[in-house]
Amino acid sequence: MEGQLKATKFCTNCGAEIDAKAEICPKCGVKQPSSNSPAKNPGLAAVLSFLFTGLGQIYNGQIGKGIIFIVMYSISIALMFVVVGFVTTPILWIWGMVDAYKTAERINSGQLKVGPSNKNANI
Ligand SMILES: [Zn+2]
Repeated sequence: MEGQLKATKFCTNCGAEIDAKAEICPKCGVKQPSSNSPAKNPGLAAVLSFLFTGLGQIYNGQIGKGIIFIVMYSISIALMFVVVGFVTTPILWIWGMVDAYKTAERINSGQLKVGPSNKNANI
């Protein structure tokens, strides 16, 4: 049976293996530094991308990716003059929403780390 794997981390004080979400070590009672990125709301990320393509990515901390979305979206709107934009714009818009939602979920589950700590990787 799989799925029993529990995310764990090691206490910064005593080194005990504790739940990844634990804020305080149950063994020694020392508060753990918040190593994980602050929780993202996938719904909010999607709504932001719904309102403006790229905004959900920026909310997720993926500034570079958000800018790329905004640039691609702008190009796509310009392409509406040659009809192509009517196809690419909705695709980019929906893609931006789905990506923002999934990225927020991945950040929350710890699969993806974004934020000020690795800003170079995001640009
Ligand atoms: Zn401890």
